[in-house]
Amino acid sequence: MGKQEGAGHGGSVIPYVSHTPHVSQEEHVSLDLPRTDPRAANLAADEVRRRLEHARTTRLAQLKALDETGASPGDHLMSNQKDAIKRVLREIDEAFARVEDGTYGTCLGCSKPVPPERLEILPHTRYCVGCQRAA
Ligand SMILES: [Zn+2]
Repeated sequence: MGKQEGAGHGGSVIPYVSHTPHVSQEEHVSLDLPRTDPRAANLAADEVRRRLEHARTTRLAQLKALDETGASPGDHLMSNQKDAIKRVLREIDEAFARVEDGTYGTCLGCSKPVPPERLEILPHTRYCVGCQRAA
């Protein structure tokens, strides 16, 4: 009986070994790699350019629409809107330059990566949420 218990113990070890925790670790690493690998960031540059291009097209259309409403030159609200759009257009241009020199997606405030979710919403942003609030 005592020996059978020993065999039973050994049997309980085998399923643990066949479980091979190494496999799940490797899977975990390979899932994390695309997000941290700088080469993956380079691959995403095309996607970033597409987003920036889209953002620019949208802003230019807004600017054109404001022009076509033909308000009086003294309309401060409209000139404020135009200034805001022009500012974003300038930031989009700067973001294009940062894609080229490889600094895109890095916060200018704390030098940490800006979360991809934020870049999806604001592709031209230069700051992470924390530094934007502090600015
Ligand atoms: Zn920051």
